[in-house]
Amino acid sequence: MRNLLSTTLLAIVLTATLSAQERSSTPSLKYDENQSLTWEEAIRYYQALDEEYEEASLIEMGMTDAGRPLHLFIISGDGLFDPREIHSKGKTIVLINNGIHPGEPEGIDASARFAADILADREGLKKYLRNCTVAIIPVYNVGGALTRSRYWRINQNGPEEKGARRNTRFLDLNRDFVKQDSRDARAFAEIYSYLDPDVFLDTHTTNGSDHQFTVTLIATQPEKMFPEMEHFFREEMLPGLYSRMKEVGKNEMVPYVQYTERGEIKAITGFKEHAYYSTGYSALFNSFGFMTETLVYKPYPERVRGTLQFIKELVRYSALNSKEILRLRAEANRRTLEAKEYVVDWEQDTTRWDMVIFHGYRYEDTVTPISGRKTGFYNHSRPYTDTIRYYNYFKPAVVVEAPEAYIVPFAWEEVIERLRINGAEMHQIKNDTTLTVEAYYIDGYEPARRATQGHYFNSKTEVRKVTREVGYLKGDYIIPLNQRSNKYIVTMLEPRSESGFFAWNFFDSFLEGQDWFSAWGFESHLKELLDHDPALRAAFDKARNEDAQMAADPVVQLQWLYQNTPVSELEKRTRLYPVGRLMKKSN
Ligand SMILES: [Zn+2]
Repeated sequence: MRNLLSTTLLAIVLTATLSAQERSSTPSLKYDENQSLTWEEAIRYYQALDEEYEEASLIEMGMTDAGRPLHLFIISGDGLFDPREIHSKGKTIVLINNGIHPGEPEGIDASARFAADILADREGLKKYLRNCTVAIIPVYNVGGALTRSRYWRINQNGPEEKGARRNTRFLDLNRDFVKQDSRDARAFAEIYSYLDPDVFLDTHTTNGSDHQFTVTLIATQPEKMFPEMEHFFREEMLPGLYSRMKEVGKNEMVPYVQYTERGEIKAITGFKEHAYYSTGYSALFNSFGFMTETLVYKPYPERVRGTLQFIKELVRYSALNSKEILRLRAEANRRTLEAKEYVVDWEQDTTRWDMVIFHGYRYEDTVTPISGRKTGFYNHSRPYTDTIRYYNYFKPAVVVEAPEAYIVPFAWEEVIERLRINGAEMHQIKNDTTLTVEAYYIDGYEPARRATQGHYFNSKTEVRKVTREVGYLKGDYIIPLNQRSNKYIVTMLEPRSESGFFAWNFFDSFLEGQDWFSAWGFESHLKELLDHDPALRAAFDKARNEDAQMAADPVVQLQWLYQNTPVSELEKRTRLYPVGRLMKKSN
């Protein structure tokens, strides 16, 4: 029995590690044959490039929920791999994230192709490394990539096998960038903070629309930038990338097609970029963020080549405009240090739009072959071209005044941990103390009826601001708002933020309060109290006389008394949001 057990264990160990032969052979890219690299193949592929080229380095950066490390591959022209040194030499850093949804693997194969091509100086690409360093996350969602099947993303036109959307904990990592429930997201944040990338790309596949374009693009919400940076982004960088894709790459792009109603696509609405998405996260650190979304119905090789073309154009642009990109980011970072207010939620401005050229297909009625449902379809034999509205302007929906610092009590460990991982510097209060702070009462909120990402997301949050003294304990954290992570700190700590810790239930326990009375036996205490406090007695009588409902309901009378006794001082903490705001002295 023992022998049998150890033989079984040995077999498991042997199959779990790669054979020597497998390790020595470099996997080849087979996207033209409708196949995508597995996670093991991708890592071996980059290991081989690391061994072959001085300019390449594959490193492990943290752990994922799958129990395997997250890898980062850096390509640097002069062999510099320290991000601070790279920036100090006037070079931009481009970070490309792949396989966040491993069923959408174009970027995994395209980045591998690009890395090999630029290192071998194919198509004269290597010159761009003089002003730009490229960092690639070969596969972000390792757990999802390990769970491969022919049947994930069943509507998608290849590759033959794909990974699962969710990670090992069933989290969608493209909702996890700020709350960071997964180890994956926390490792990603460490990479982001280490690299401080100027330009960021996250690669995807879209099944939300049908039209003639292979590559659609989500560009980070321009209003999140300061005006000069926004102008550069809207007027220079985006048109530059679109035009090169069309003229040089023969791969005309369109903004990510989010339409208002199904049918013929008459307008495209801009993508509201929550901070929990990849580019929402990159915007918190003033990067130029992008998501490619290639169209699910196009053949896999075409989608990989489209993504590859965009990667080349993005790296080229980031190299040729390195000075301007670095200058604008430095200015954005400087302004972030001094910002007086922050926008923590946005809404679409439906009064403003641009016009875009759209190559669509006519939409026709049909009856589905199996269920007999009456519906419509995009007829590929009836293409057309039109000019349509693109609503890509947003206006601030919730703006908050910046405090000098936030105070987060020691008790909220998960919050502190995430702030730290995202680069927030903080110090602890040395002695128990009382401070005058601005604080919020949560007057209303709506938890979701069904869990999403393991949370009953709170929305429609209403707050009432008060200035009051609050007792803090030795060890509570003061987080000054004078740092690179300011936008993350404010986004996560403000309760009305669309993606903050309050929305993601990190603070829910305080909403229940701390104590309450039991009706049994309470009245004898109250009688004694009222006998010794004529003012309280008078107030109670007055309230009861004036409020018929109270007079008729003994429980309401007890509640009134409870809330008007000295205990009410303690109960004033009920619904008082635990994060305090230390304001600047106004003198
Ligand atoms: Zn996706």
